[in-house]
Order: sequence, then structure tokens, then C-alpha cells
Amino acid sequence: MRLLHNSLPVLLTLATLASVSAQQPTATIYRATERRINDLVHTKLDLQFDYKKRYAYGKEWLTLKPHAYPTDSLRLDAKGMDIKTVALMSNGTAQPLRFSYNDERNLRVNLGKKMPPGANYTIYIEYTAKPDEAKVKGSAAISEAKGLYFINPDSTVAGKPVQIWTQGETEGSSVWFPTIDRPNQKTTSEISLTVPSKYVTLSNGALVSQKPAGAGLRTDTWKMEQPHAPYLFMLAIGDFRITKDTWRGKEVSYYLEPKYADQARAVFGKTPQMMEFFSKRLGVDFPWNKFAQVVARDFVSGAMENTTASLYGEQAQGTARELLDWEYAGVEREIAHELFHHWFGDFVTTESWSNLTMNESFANFSEVLWAEHAYGPDAGAAQADRSLRNYLRGGPSNYEKPLVRFQYADKEDMFDGVSYQKGGSILNMLRATLGEEVFFQGLKRYLTQNAFGTGEPHQLRLALEEVSGQDLNWFFNQWYYRAGHPVVTIDYQWDAPRKRQAVVVRQTQTGGFLSCRCW
Ligand SMILES: [Zn+2]
Repeated sequence: MRLLHNSLPVLLTLATLASVSAQQPTATIYRATERRINDLVHTKLDLQFDYKKRYAYGKEWLTLKPHAYPTDSLRLDAKGMDIKTVALMSNGTAQPLRFSYNDERNLRVNLGKKMPPGANYTIYIEYTAKPDEAKVKGSAAISEAKGLYFINPDSTVAGKPVQIWTQGETEGSSVWFPTIDRPNQKTTSEISLTVPSKYVTLSNGALVSQKPAGAGLRTDTWKMEQPHAPYLFMLAIGDFRITKDTWRGKEVSYYLEPKYADQARAVFGKTPQMMEFFSKRLGVDFPWNKFAQVVARDFVSGAMENTTASLYGEQAQGTARELLDWEYAGVEREIAHELFHHWFGDFVTTESWSNLTMNESFANFSEVLWAEHAYGPDAGAAQADRSLRNYLRGGPSNYEKPLVRFQYADKEDMFDGVSYQKGGSILNMLRATLGEEVFFQGLKRYLTQNAFGTGEPHQLRLALEEVSGQDLNWFFNQWYYRAGHPVVTIDYQWDAPRKRQAVVVRQTQTGGFLSCRCW
């Protein structure tokens, strides 16, 4: 995810401080990675929309399997829904199951029998998603967390498009479909959307069918055959014009409002080159079957790396005249960021929000990589400098937080100048420490060893140790698990008789654990 704008981390850290002091006890809770009792396997969704009520009527066939132990129960995240039916599918028939849903957040299902570990079972759920009525808290990074957004649904604002779109991260997807809404779950998906036939739809994966659905409606079905995390599920529905490119035979497409569609290639046209560059640099080809990008109205963040379908706010559309004023630090950097997430975030996903660095630090680092490749080393250095200064501007609250944090007041607090800019700067430093080739060999090893799975910094460390032949505990202990950074003073003393300039560099930070070795 890209934050709304450059100065947000500063605001965010202030907001973090406020929320920590207001809810001190929650900041001391150890945030364990969610235990996997049941694993998601496949999610099949059938959705229709009521624009007037801002409802989605859903039918879901959810296939799961117990992870390690037999279990007769299943907990799903489902926020603010009406749950009509929960049933176990058996030989094509639905056997009703008992369930409780008292808190309107956790759907607890009694499976009626013990399911053995590793054996798939499918449950059927019929529900109504009511995002505008669900009580879900927003954050500084995401102005709202409704999951599913109806934009101008009654056409009351003249000239404003009517759209529906979603924002899953961190755990907003469970407002529009019941799931285990955690980043350490992965599922293939098939999403059918029944919409007014004048609209275009976009979702994850390939568009496999479009069928008339009566009375001016059409049903589009999108299929993802590779597993991805629930927070990366997406849909966008509206009057978009599609511009198509290709990369190595895969579709690369840009969905824009018709009046901005002529600028699609001016905004997004470097995407195939970026896919080529990142694929080669990482030694792992772009792992998904297509790559679409869509610009939506009133988006609640900067941009979001939904698998195969990144979504951007209005900053990513403009007239030809407006585009003349755009700089690298704006939208082009965001495109690199969301694309790089398709390796670090979507392909190998942070195991938990505490380890968010495994997503966001890499995406931040990619902004430097692309600038360097496309515009030369000075442009790369300038982007790295902007990023570092952004972290430093966050002040003491940034300096006191380690990159990996197992204690936080709210998971949304992880989306800050430490997870993004400091983490990106650390990766750039690690690249310099290990050398270009060895560093990228290590990333390739991390990606291939954890493909379609999850990662935490220890897995990255082990991959880098393996390829470099060096112990890197010292580096990760300093930079990933402890806070702060070196504060250096530089004094010059001119010795006139001997014509010698003495330069004295002192590290003055407190803490004592950051040695000169790391610079
Ligand atoms: Zn991001």
C-alpha cells in the first residue's frame, strides 16, 4: 500500500503517539502471528449489489482444511453482516450447520464432526454485506476501513462517476466476504460479479466469462488460480475505459475514467518495462497471469497492491496539461511500489502485521531501484535521500520504534515511516554491505523458498547468509529488532604548520548497540 502523500508518516507517528497514550494497555500486548487452525484453500464468491442500500448480497463457497490437528469448529472474520445460512456442502447438497454471530465480527461455525488435518471441506454461506452500517475503525493510513465502498451510488453528485471498489488491507476484506482475514492465509479465488451491464468490472486474475443476467445486468467471473491473501482480494465496478499493453504475452491493462483514458499510456505506459526490469533484477519472473491498474474516486489510501489489480487514488489520473507537471516522486514511483509488491507482499506475504517490513520496506526500496535504472544513479540517490529524510522528519517517535514490532496499539500503526522509509533505507544499505549481486541472489533465494507463502525477517536473513557465506545476525539484530540509527557529528581541525586537515567523526547516539561496522 502507498500512503496518501509524503508527509503522512509524520502525521501518522503523531497519531500513533496519541493512540498509544490513549490506549496504553493494548500497546503492551504481544501480537502473535495468528494460529492456523483451519487453512483457507479456495474462495468462490457470487455477489450482487444494491446501490440504493449500499449492500452486497453474497453467496460464498469456502473450501478449507484443518492445518495440523482435527477440528470440529471454524472461526471466520465477518464484519457487520447479516448471515442467512451456513451449511456444509456434501455431495452437492447443503447440510445446515449451527453457528453463532453475536458480536457481528466472528462467525463461529460448529462443523458437526471432526475434520481431519489436511482434508478439504467446503462450507456455503449466504449473507448480506452492509459496509456503510458496519462498525469498523479507520486509521491514519486508511481514512476508513469499510472494505467495500459505494461512490456516488445515487448519482446525486452531477458529473461524478458511480463506482464500487474495495480496500482490503489490513483486515477490511471481511466486511464484504467471510474469510480468515489474516495475512498468513492464502486462497485461490473465483469471484462472480453481477452488475448493471453498462459497467466494466475488474477483479483478481483472469476474466473467464461474461454472461447476460437479465434486466440490464451482466455477470462477470474472475478466476485466480494461484493462492493469495484475503487482504489482496479486490473488485472495482464502474464506467472505465480499458487500455491494453502486454508484457511477455501477459495482459497489462489500465482502467481509467473515459475522460482520462487518452492519458493511460502517459501515466502507466512504463509498466511493461518495469515488469521486465524487476523480473530480471530479482531473477524471479512476474509470477501472476496479468497485471491491471485502475484509478478510482475517493480512494482511502494512496494506492493498493491487490493481486494482479492495483488500485490508485485520483492522483493517478490527469489531463495532458496536468501530466506535464508530474515528477518521478509522484505517480511513477507509486507504480513501481505497487508492482514490486507483486513479489514482496503478494507472492511472499508478511507473516503478520508485526513483520510488515517484509512488504512495505521492499516496496519503498523499489522506488530507488526504478529511479536508478530509468534515470541513473543520481536519481536513485535522490529518491533514497527523500525517503531517508521522510523517516527522519518523523522525529523521536520514529526513532524509538524497531522495524519489527510485536507490540503495537493498533495494527494500522505499523504503516509508518519506520516500516516504509527506514526499512527501505536499511535494504539499500544491506545492498551496499553485501554487494549488488550477492544481495539480489539472496532476495531470489528468499522469494523462491517462500513462493506463495509467507515470510518474516529471519527467513530473509537465512537466505542472505546462505548466499553470502556471512553471519548476519548482528545486522538483523541491530536494524530489524532494535530501534534508532547512528547520529554522527563531524568536526574539522586544520593543523596549519603541518598543513593537515583532521576530520573527527563521532557517533553520539545513545543505546550503544550500533557499531561503526554497519556503515
Ligand atoms: Zn506499499
